[in-house]
Amino acid sequence: MAGIYIHIPFCKTRCTYCDFYTGTNETQMDAFVDALCAEARIRKDEIPEQVKTVYFGGGTPSRLRQEHFDKIFDALQHHYFIAPEVEITVEANPDDLSEAYVEMLSQLPVNRLSIGIQSFDDEELKFLSRRHSAQQAIDTVKRCQQHGFGNISIDLMYGLPQQTEEIWQYNLAQAIALDIPHISSYHLIYEEKTKMYRLLQAGRIKPIGEEVSTTMFTMLIDRLTSHGYIHYEISAFGKEGYFSRHNSSYWKNEKYLGLGPAAHSFDGDNRSLNVPSLIRYIRGIESGILNRETEYLSLSEKYNETVLTGLRTMWGLDLRELITRFGDEFYRYCLQNARKYLDRNLLKTEDDRLKLTRDGIFISDGIMSDLMWVG
Ligand code: SF4
Repeated sequence: MAGIYIHIPFCKTRCTYCDFYTGTNETQMDAFVDALCAEARIRKDEIPEQVKTVYFGGGTPSRLRQEHFDKIFDALQHHYFIAPEVEITVEANPDDLSEAYVEMLSQLPVNRLSIGIQSFDDEELKFLSRRHSAQQAIDTVKRCQQHGFGNISIDLMYGLPQQTEEIWQYNLAQAIALDIPHISSYHLIYEEKTKMYRLLQAGRIKPIGEEVSTTMFTMLIDRLTSHGYIHYEISAFGKEGYFSRHNSSYWKNEKYLGLGPAAHSFDGDNRSLNVPSLIRYIRGIESGILNRETEYLSLSEKYNETVLTGLRTMWGLDLRELITRFGDEFYRYCLQNARKYLDRNLLKTEDDRLKLTRDGIFISDGIMSDLMWVG
């Protein structure tokens, strides 16, 4: 199985916390889509197998117009073997999802929407420089549902300065009340080179304490799991049958092709990264050159990635696969370093898989880094 990720490097405006590769000048949109379709053609032999997932991420894919989607779908259908049951996700911002836009999306092969809601509180939305209001977020979800989109995911952010436990409870309650089957929830991270980071450095905002962060994460898990969501990855919660198939394939180390500037690809063995520059990307494709760098992973790097991605999920790390792929030395190293966590009930083994326990999830970063191969 393989997936295709398509990076759309345009946003109407920038959010204060975001460090993704994206820009607000949309004048190159047509040239970008042509280059993207050309890249899909040039790289078609990299994915001879069935494509089970297609993911439009960004950036803001809902800045694309219908003619752009039509061209991209034509290119995909023409050059790839798209599975009949393919999952096709489009990330979208609530303020783009007008009645006409949702109607247009519903006529395309798109069958899953990932909506960047982040919060149902107007003050928080303003703080994050989101362009939508809380009411718009609610109306958008209902509009998408009315147009037949049952498979909807939303993003919710917690750990914001000034965020209270009450507001966080309210955000979760809204998501549950809207009957959204998938929620991805992330703690605010102060990424360098963002406005949020500069505010922090200037002392104009104060991060919340570790204890409050932990309480909010606990509330997230408890609230969602008690309403039928399965906590299948550290940041992802889905009702049965609504897990993100595309993201699950990343966590299971499956092959994917990344199209567009700054898109990553994984060929099952090594990774590559397209040039993170729209202009250089378009110029390169126009002159028949793919501007990208390949990262050849050593055995220990592959082991580290396998540990990281496996432990993040409820399926855990497959210990039999660990021996087969990496040999006895890595297997013993892993179990030796896992021992103290197994003894403290922070890790457990089930069916030859090593998994985080509920308590272990809260210190997952530390556990994973202890299991990493160093040297
Ligand atoms: S968070 Fe999304 S909408 Fe905001 S700047 Fe980043 S990619 Fe664009």
